[in-house]
Amino acid sequence: MSALRPSQNIDATSDLMAQLESSEKTWVWVPDDIEGYLSGWVRSDKDDMVEVVLDGGRGIRRLPGYSLSKKNPPKFDRVDDIADLSFLNEASVVHNLRLRYGSGAIYTYSGLFLVAINPYQALPLYSDAIIYQYRGKRKDENPPHIFAIAERAWVNMGDERENQSILITGESGAGKTESTKKVISYLAAIATDTHTPSMTPGHSQSPSLSSPSFGVMPTIGLPRAASMKRHSKHTSISASSSASHLSSKGRLGLLERQILQANPILESFGNAQTQRNNNSSRFGKFIRISFSPDGSIAGANIDWYLLEKSRVVVRSEAERNFHVFYQLMEAGGALKDTLLLDGGVENYEYLNKSRREVDGIDDREEWAALKSALDTVGFSAAEQFDLFRIVGAILHIGNIIVSSTRGDDAFLADPSQAERVCHLLGIPLSEFTKAVLRPRVLAGREWVTQARTRQQAIDELSALCKTLYEKSFGALVERINRALDRPSSKSTFIGVLDIAGFEIFDKNGYEQLLINYTNEKLQQFFNHHMFVLEQEEYAREGIHWDYVNFGLDLQPTIDLIEASGNAIGILSCLDEECIMPKATDATFTNKLHSLWTSSIPEGEEGHLGRTKYAPTRFEQGFIVHHYAGRVEYRTDGWLEKNKDPLNDNLTRVLASSSERYVASLFSEYTEAPTSLVGTLAGRQRVIKKGAFRTVAQRHREQLSSLMGQLVATQPHFVRCIVPNPNKKPGRIDVPLVLDQLRCNGVLEGIRIARLGFPNRLPFVEFRQRYEILTPGILPPGYMDGRMACLRMVGALGLDQQSYRIGTSKIFFKAGVLAEQEEKRDAL
Ligand code: ATP
Ligand code: MG
Repeated sequence: MSALRPSQNIDATSDLMAQLESSEKTWVWVPDDIEGYLSGWVRSDKDDMVEVVLDGGRGIRRLPGYSLSKKNPPKFDRVDDIADLSFLNEASVVHNLRLRYGSGAIYTYSGLFLVAINPYQALPLYSDAIIYQYRGKRKDENPPHIFAIAERAWVNMGDERENQSILITGESGAGKTESTKKVISYLAAIATDTHTPSMTPGHSQSPSLSSPSFGVMPTIGLPRAASMKRHSKHTSISASSSASHLSSKGRLGLLERQILQANPILESFGNAQTQRNNNSSRFGKFIRISFSPDGSIAGANIDWYLLEKSRVVVRSEAERNFHVFYQLMEAGGALKDTLLLDGGVENYEYLNKSRREVDGIDDREEWAALKSALDTVGFSAAEQFDLFRIVGAILHIGNIIVSSTRGDDAFLADPSQAERVCHLLGIPLSEFTKAVLRPRVLAGREWVTQARTRQQAIDELSALCKTLYEKSFGALVERINRALDRPSSKSTFIGVLDIAGFEIFDKNGYEQLLINYTNEKLQQFFNHHMFVLEQEEYAREGIHWDYVNFGLDLQPTIDLIEASGNAIGILSCLDEECIMPKATDATFTNKLHSLWTSSIPEGEEGHLGRTKYAPTRFEQGFIVHHYAGRVEYRTDGWLEKNKDPLNDNLTRVLASSSERYVASLFSEYTEAPTSLVGTLAGRQRVIKKGAFRTVAQRHREQLSSLMGQLVATQPHFVRCIVPNPNKKPGRIDVPLVLDQLRCNGVLEGIRIARLGFPNRLPFVEFRQRYEILTPGILPPGYMDGRMACLRMVGALGLDQQSYRIGTSKIFFKAGVLAEQEEKRDAL
């Protein structure tokens, strides 16, 4: 228990001291370059220059008043929900997270968010006993936890027969995938236990949980302690009996095991070691788990987004290729022989140029785990072989040496390497070499054979590897879905989205634009959801409040990126340039600027800005104003990245492969080979029927399908945080954490909440805690709660704009409760 709940029984004497001190002094947070914020009290305040005495004898600072943030009274230390803080400033937010993290409480609510800070150590938070502790409990009955989110989604799904989604985002290494796995194991465990009547969803007696939880928990000490006792009793029961089997494999049915085993397969093919994370997901995913009306798991389905396929051919020296490459190297001799693989990592260009091993990852064990997961999910031996056939072929392609003639025509001095490739891919060597070295291209209205330069041929081979890998990954996920997906009209689902959060690097490319565009949309979804819930809460309480729809704030940036039709957005502008003859990254960049910056009135800043770079061949770009900040994108290479990279000679050869799997990966290219379509800028362009879709088009379609699904669900939001850059437990790097809270929308959520009345408590709790401040105002014994509150706020002399009285709760502007706390402490 102690690991779950930070101790609130701070030493009584120091508590008292703190209270005495806080009643006399104004406590503030002082910004500090190294620690983020330092605590201190105000000694003097003249002409808005404030003198602050820092805690712990760290001296005195003089600084302007606006740079200080007010500290919350000690009562608010370690609150489970950041939204309960009275002073909702950045310093207080990180202070609370830091205090909690220091005592092992890695989870904290912030209004609608669950904030999860990566512990970088195994904490005893996920045992069967803890699963049992969260089972059938309301959010406020337990400390914040990812299980509480999963539980709530499950209960809401049962109670309201509504699909649910859990949106998990964060930086690389923040813990998104681990959180996703925890949610899925929790759901698998509780769904398996539906034989027990009390375990079916919808059983919950709890009142509707859909309202936002900005309520202040004014008596943190007391009722919490009481509920703790209740839970520890539960825990001891569960630990010794029924719950210990909950998540053990033996109890899970085949479907549940298959769902859990899909993950190691996805990780083998979709994850890699990076500098930030030894097991970094290089794709996004949305996993939907569907449940039958009786609460048992009915099936699952996985959608994936933006696989980083370039990693197959290039990556930084300190990083590895996708895990599966190294795992395959540990396979038994027979398989490697069939794949014509010889020796280990050192023999393959796509593996030996960068890091080969990772601390804590045993590729041989992982290979065994992968094989067993494939077996469990139901991949036949032939299907498994096909997956490795592609991996092997890619390794062989990487080893092809392309030479050049004096005239810089590409040729293969030694065809034996290409022979291996063709053998594995089931294609004729002559066709393959022709397609790579001397493809037929359209020149005017004539088809001619064009000799490729060495570099062109190498690029073509790289493009082939990337395409092969991505298509095979897609086929793999499709195959998993065939095993898991059992669509039924009666089922409802809980979807878990594990997708990279907002990225602002020193150099931001096309990948960052697509990720940030996705996050802009997800943030808009959040803002809109919060707006709706807040509005509902105010309406329920009969309070008039014209809440602003903050989802709309983000629309101009979203339009800038995705608009098509009359106003051309960044993506459609890029698409257009991709089919323009002679277009370059620079023409794209200039066109974009002329489209967007020309329409902005003098002196105003638009959502698109110019970079400080002078446009040159390598340095050009634009700035987008995202909600998370201004991001400068560099546009070199964008046209290539957005296009279908393979020439149609090659795709046609692959589409007619004698290996069914290979042919199926390229089947979209088999329809009418090419056709001339229209004229554009006086030149004919060639469009492959059905096949040609730019990366932008595909992503926009996928994202719109995702958003379409999300808006039809009741969402839950999880934000994962990297605590420090060293992957070490126990330390919070304040600026790093603040940056993430800004990018992931937590601070945005607080900002929106502050515009309304963020702190709210039921009448009875307000009376209990603060009646002491208004002696003699209320009659002893019963009085109508609303009446009592009205009298109390009158007696307290509160500004009418600082509170609202609803039908069951009293609402406060930020900071008002802190003042009442201070008065209370001063008594
Ligand atoms: P990426 O975007 O790179 O995929 P991610 O957000 O998915 O990153 P994870 O792979 O989930 O990050 O987590 C990175 C590592 O952090 C894990 O391998 C694990 O070592 C550690 N970690 C994350 N969450 C937890 C947790 N709840 N308990 C213990 N360790 C954790
Ligand atoms: Mg991940």
